[in-house]
Amino acid sequence: MSEGFAQRLKRAVARRVAMNPVRAKLDRAVASLTFDDIPASAARVGATVLEKNGVLGTYYICGGHTGGSFEGVVQQTRDDIVSLRQAGHEIGCHSFTHADVTRLSLQGRDAERLQNQAYFAALAPETDLVSFAYPYGQVSVAAKGYYAKRFFTARGVMPGINSGIVDFAELRAISLTHKSFDLETVRALIARAVAHTGWLVFFTHDVDVSPTPYGCRPEELQAVIDLLREARVDILPVKAAAARCMFGPGGAG
Ligand SMILES: [Zn+2]
Repeated sequence: MSEGFAQRLKRAVARRVAMNPVRAKLDRAVASLTFDDIPASAARVGATVLEKNGVLGTYYICGGHTGGSFEGVVQQTRDDIVSLRQAGHEIGCHSFTHADVTRLSLQGRDAERLQNQAYFAALAPETDLVSFAYPYGQVSVAAKGYYAKRFFTARGVMPGINSGIVDFAELRAISLTHKSFDLETVRALIARAVAHTGWLVFFTHDVDVSPTPYGCRPEELQAVIDLLREARVDILPVKAAAARCMFGPGGAG
């Protein structure tokens, strides 16, 4: 048994507690395309799909995996990170070692955060890590409190559309995987986001013709972009979408 009842209950409670509630000031729906860990294919194949559409994404990276592999998947290199930055994509934080942050002490969370920050400060000095994604999607009340104070937003894996009162300490997100990909489901989600003037955040891992269970195919990423375009939904990196959500379309730029 990988997870006990107490742990599941704590997470369920944490997900119901908005630790950083923000009333959305969007005047129309927006969407963000995000990648976790990140595998080399997300930085190469995934970024190519985005860039040929003139779209920028958010890449939540564990600096500790750069140049190596994680769970058998080849991860991004330093050159990939530099290329992503040069293309204008947002780099987000995913802890340094992909730690389950709910199991860390305050010092442990500090160490993971500061190590990742220092890594990117040395590699790409202009990188400002303001967006966080919880490794494994694991949240607790304490963890949400911690990341709410230190990042503009923290993204989870709880499905849903961010609208009305949005919890910036645990953004809802839609998993984009080949395994579960269904065009009509995505179309319906986008229609709901438009109807509720919400913020739709997608997340995936590798982008490959033969993806892992956590990744998607390039044509599926393209299909999501096409549907968002068709619905006239702006696609923005998390940081920019969060600013629009918090300050409104004419807000803080
Ligand atoms: Zn991850």
